[in-house]
Amino acid sequence: MGKTGICRALGMLCVLALVLSAAGCETLNVPAKDRSVSDRTLYAMDTEMTLRLYGDTDGACMEELAALLEALDGRLSATSEGSSLSALNRTGETSDGELLSIVTQAKAIHDRTGGALDLSLYPASLAWGFTTGSYHVPAPEDLEALRPSVGMDKLTVGADSLELAQGMMLDLGAVGKGWAADRCREAMEARGLSGILSLGGSIQTVGAKPDGSDWVIGVQDPDDAGAYLLTLTLKGTKAVVTSGDYQRYFEEGGVRYCHILDPDTLSPVHSSLRSVTVVADSGFLADGLATALFVLGKESGIALYRQSSDFEAIWIEEGGVVTVTPGLKDLVSGCEFEAVP
Ligand code: ADP
Ligand code: MG
Repeated sequence: MGKTGICRALGMLCVLALVLSAAGCETLNVPAKDRSVSDRTLYAMDTEMTLRLYGDTDGACMEELAALLEALDGRLSATSEGSSLSALNRTGETSDGELLSIVTQAKAIHDRTGGALDLSLYPASLAWGFTTGSYHVPAPEDLEALRPSVGMDKLTVGADSLELAQGMMLDLGAVGKGWAADRCREAMEARGLSGILSLGGSIQTVGAKPDGSDWVIGVQDPDDAGAYLLTLTLKGTKAVVTSGDYQRYFEEGGVRYCHILDPDTLSPVHSSLRSVTVVADSGFLADGLATALFVLGKESGIALYRQSSDFEAIWIEEGGVVTVTPGLKDLVSGCEFEAVP
């Protein structure tokens, strides 16, 4: 648990350091009001979050974002008893509009990824101890016994209600931070402010930096929690989300068990893939796809990319082998990579 926590914390620090150093170089040819920078670090959704805003002179936007993130955490956490999600998991039904939207949008990603994104894997995550930190390898028959209650196909999604099948429980860990990034982006856009948010592994850039320079985002080296393997240079509003096997895991008998589960085996994904980074306009899509592409593996992920027009991606495999989609090949620096033809 300690080692995992340290890895996670270092990863966050790593992203923050680059985000802040990249953001801290405004020039003098913009009005003083626009150059004002404010930063805040907070803890929500089981992770450290860092927020950087430009031009939030009275601090009102920062307050709004902090309150928004705290409220979302309260509503969407599977582990806090008072949340809307816990109520759904206890009663098997909800008419909460926000949960309905999240589940409907996640079901669309589930369907287009052949079921790789599946919010109903929560009972399996519990069996592996990922939610509690009491990690252990469950007996195969215990996992098999969960099958009847796993699978987003078993959800009944109505126009204004959602019903779970017997024994089913949902967890929004794979999409919650992306959902939160979209809500924060909307709040910033409503106030006409720019900035960069790091919500755990989910980065959201909003608008332009006051000096007109690019946003620079580091993607962690899976073998070194304190280093980037590459940097990505972007303009404007984008979501950049990474899912990897180093973010939360335990080791037993020399095997690494990561927190992303394969719906086919109800067990941690095990492949040569170390991380997948997705760049998209929507934080929710980027978050959901990053998890799903990690499950699918590189070849199937590239096949999905070829049928899609709403995301770009970076695959990092063992040994630092990096593959990027064509839309990112001029934006990635710091390492050698292969571009998807
Ligand atoms: P992180 O939460 O570290 O940013 P992800 O976005 O990839 O990483 O989400 C992983 C979380 O999602 C897990 O901790 C678990 O709660 C849940 N999960 C694990 N496997 C899946 C899956 N195949 N589909 C949907 N959710 C998953
Ligand atoms: Mg995700």
